[in-house]
Amino acid sequence: MSEALKKAAPRGSRHKVIYGIGIGNSVGFGLLDFLDREEKKEKITEFLGEEREKRNFAAALDRAKEESRELYRKTLANAGREAAAIFEIHEMLLSDPDFVDSVVAAIESGTPAAEAVLSAGESLAAIFERLDDEYLAARGADMRDIAKRVYSVIVGKNQEKRASGEKIIPICRDLSPGDTANLDTSGVAGFVTFSGSVNSHTAILARAMDIPALVRAEEIGEEYHGAPAIIDPASGCLFINPTPEEMLRFAEQKEKKEAEASRLRTLTALPAVTKSGKRIALYANIGSPSEAGAARKMGAEGIGLFRSEFLFIGRDDLPTEAEQFEAYSSVARLFEDKKGPVVIRTLDIGADKILPSLSFGEEDNPALGMRGIRLCLAKPEVFRTQLRAILRASAFGKVAIMLPMVTNIDEVRQTRRILSEEKNRLRFEEVDFDENIGLGIMIETPAAAIMAEKLAGECDFFSVGTNDLFQYTMAADRQNHRLSYLAEGDGIEPVLRLIKLASDGIHAAGGDKWIGICGEMAADENLTELLISSGIDELSVSPPYIARVKERIRGIE
Ligand code: PEP
Ligand code: MG
Repeated sequence: MSEALKKAAPRGSRHKVIYGIGIGNSVGFGLLDFLDREEKKEKITEFLGEEREKRNFAAALDRAKEESRELYRKTLANAGREAAAIFEIHEMLLSDPDFVDSVVAAIESGTPAAEAVLSAGESLAAIFERLDDEYLAARGADMRDIAKRVYSVIVGKNQEKRASGEKIIPICRDLSPGDTANLDTSGVAGFVTFSGSVNSHTAILARAMDIPALVRAEEIGEEYHGAPAIIDPASGCLFINPTPEEMLRFAEQKEKKEAEASRLRTLTALPAVTKSGKRIALYANIGSPSEAGAARKMGAEGIGLFRSEFLFIGRDDLPTEAEQFEAYSSVARLFEDKKGPVVIRTLDIGADKILPSLSFGEEDNPALGMRGIRLCLAKPEVFRTQLRAILRASAFGKVAIMLPMVTNIDEVRQTRRILSEEKNRLRFEEVDFDENIGLGIMIETPAAAIMAEKLAGECDFFSVGTNDLFQYTMAADRQNHRLSYLAEGDGIEPVLRLIKLASDGIHAAGGDKWIGICGEMAADENLTELLISSGIDELSVSPPYIARVKERIRGIE
């Protein structure tokens, strides 16, 4: 407790509370880190003298190389050799004489190191991008990336953070799903955005990573950069320069949360079974192989949704078959001894998950456009590469394929045709795969829910994506916070009715077909009983929610 009090704001610093929409159920304490550019611009206009600027540049280069090596090691462990290779290239670029010499020359002519780094990075990136060779042209983005990294070290933010040992709370207008996935969970206490919504992919990732967040927070100025703050999603508050009382409350909440976590840990090995003996498959949602370990630790019996698009987002090129195989098979291996499968959802790009390299140009209504399976079928080579990688991974565990955004049976039939061609190809090449690999679909559109009984003739299993099913049933953009009231109280009844309709249809079709839920509703403990009584066989939630949902299931009569 005294530690917490020590961290309280010194007298005279401006105490402020801002409000937003809370995401997650943990609390965090850290220093606010404005991701805007203004402060940096001010800093880099100062020239500290040639010697100091050169020393700062050399130290920043060393630090950036060290960071690249660290990223290499992390990525190698999480996503394999091919994905990690990019950081080897970054390390090489950091030693590139063209880059180093032009920064040094600029410093010698009186340019501050930070500014020199950015402009050298930009001119070299432009040279790369003009090259005809596609591979070399793509290095332009890497050049910019490393220049930015060196720049951030020079402007001092990384060093400040390391020196103080405090975590940070990034604060900005918006964070893309890619940026969120890249947050370093060990150094981030939470994040705050001035825009966003509860069911955006950014919010979903925050819950999955157990990072407290506030979205649609009141806007504040950069004068609070570096200020200590408590982020409390339960109250929807960010306490800036907290008072001793607020720090005390934070410490108490943290203690409570830790006590709750240790109580929930006792449930991890127990089955998810109701008091009357109905067993519910309780699986995890993940967006990358690095989350699979946490899912297992929290007691997931399988992976109900692997959002594969996060392997594609945030990079300029597409992941190769080998990279994808590495990612899928590593999760399959990790869950090999578990009862449930690893359900890999094929690429779900579109709406708020943007991938410029696969875009069909601007659409007036992207959420109603080339999304999910529509895009996969329109880009057969990308789709085939992914299916081959999944098939190959199926030799290493119980893997299943799930299609996003299905609206009609023809989409499933076309996929089955492509899948069978790729299976033939692998047989011909004598590559192992699971001949009986399951093919299921997401129920995310009212059309799929209504037609579930018929779709059951072509699909092995179903999983309801309530985030999208809500948006398409209610004609309410899931990103639009002004419409979130539609999800309150009885507002979700139409969605619940569609779930029941789909569940009845699928079970009426017979066989061993199952239906689960992998949208955010699966983690809402107030709905658990209702969903189970609608005939739902499986629930798939972010790892931090597994134990809570299990506790709820075990309490149901
Ligand atoms: C959903 O729509 O509920 C779902 C699980 O998919 P996503 O959130 O990735 O669109
Ligand atoms: Mg969806």
